[in-house]
Amino acid sequence: MTPQMGISGPTSAGPTPSLDRIEELGIIGAGGGGFPTAVKFKAQVPLFIANAAECEPLLHKDKELLHHYAEPFLRGMTMAMQLVGAREGVIGIKEKYQEIIAALDAKVPANIRVEPLPDCYPAGDEFILVHMVTGRVIPPGGLPKDVGATVSNVETLMNIGLDRPVTHKYLTVAGAVAHPVTLRVPVGITIGEVIEAAGGAAVPDFGVLLGGVMMARPAANLDVPVTKTTGGIIVLPAEHALIRRHNAPWMHIAKIGRSACDQCRFCTEFCPRYLLGHPIEPHMAMRSLGFSQPGDLTVATLYCCECNLCTMFACPEDLDPKNVCVQGKPIARERGLTWKGTPDSIQPHPMAEFRRVPMRRLIAKLGLGEFVNEGPLTEYKFAPRKVTIPLKQHAGAPAVPQVKCGDWVRAGELIAAPEAGKLGARIHASIDGRVTVGKDAVVIEA
Ligand code: SF4
Ligand code: SF4
Repeated sequence: MTPQMGISGPTSAGPTPSLDRIEELGIIGAGGGGFPTAVKFKAQVPLFIANAAECEPLLHKDKELLHHYAEPFLRGMTMAMQLVGAREGVIGIKEKYQEIIAALDAKVPANIRVEPLPDCYPAGDEFILVHMVTGRVIPPGGLPKDVGATVSNVETLMNIGLDRPVTHKYLTVAGAVAHPVTLRVPVGITIGEVIEAAGGAAVPDFGVLLGGVMMARPAANLDVPVTKTTGGIIVLPAEHALIRRHNAPWMHIAKIGRSACDQCRFCTEFCPRYLLGHPIEPHMAMRSLGFSQPGDLTVATLYCCECNLCTMFACPEDLDPKNVCVQGKPIARERGLTWKGTPDSIQPHPMAEFRRVPMRRLIAKLGLGEFVNEGPLTEYKFAPRKVTIPLKQHAGAPAVPQVKCGDWVRAGELIAAPEAGKLGARIHASIDGRVTVGKDAVVIEA
């Protein structure tokens, strides 16, 4: 199948900003975490940062949205700034996107500026982004509001500006596919159907990583549904090192790590959170493997953002310090090993600026150089016979179905809502059809 070319722009009159409306539309952080946006915007801060620093290799969704849909994005950002009381807005975007920066510069109001960022990984991590924009360090375990800022992803802000229920997701399909593209996809469609829309896999045996190659989770099969937070679908040959690494079992990781780590510290010296001055030293987590359990020697594991740079880029022995940190987190939590310092005591490493990992080096190291590093936004008419819409696509508790088996719904109708008093988000039908309600998902058959 060849994607149909040409983009029809979404339109909307200027809606009135309101947290109730954002909640009603089911808007959550589209950048990965899925935190309910109306809850986040309750904090009053002087600075609002739009996170357009998309830094996962091969992903282009945010850049494409800014290129095609700058108006609803800026409308949403202005509304968000009013809601959080921000006087100043910053759009953090990679400096390599000169054309988009120039177009935004011509459109932004006086209280919003465009901040060009270096093309490095992980520029899109909130802590790194806030530091690059403000020079301030969010304390370990803290939030941007602790330094007077709120951060939101481009697509989240565009959804606010569009003022319509979130029924579709924009994502990039990349890697070993016939046509790497960015698509607008109904929530609940299978990743297999989306890969077909990108022309299908270019190799017979392949694996799929969801979200990006660095912070990815491997897809169990092609029936996995797209959710409101799926930002990328990366197809790679089954024998690609990234597929093997993301599927490595923990026992193997621990066994090899215990015997092969030479304590060279490269993982720590490249760790972006360590370089920010946070108490995180992955080589210490590795050392703890040799004694008993990960987490025994250090509180560091708690403050790992799981960017995977230590594992995928830094370690010369192909070990997996990131996963050792991840395994150590619950142990550190159980033992109450939290950071007890004061924000004033945090000092970024003097070499931090010079140890940023350039995207081109990362792409080469990951063995992704052979794939097309583009994802033009392309219109494709999806007509799924069925969508499976998970009740948990967001931070907090699963949503409670508001429909019953046999009901007919139209696209955009409410099908699930948060339980009273619990953190969660509303969910809407992405297609017209008849409903079946399961334990974890609402299925709609067209
Ligand atoms: S970089 Fe690798 S070998 Fe060096 S300390 Fe870290 S885990 Fe051990
Ligand atoms: S994954 Fe590794 S590099 Fe990234 S924050 Fe955690 S320890 Fe640091």
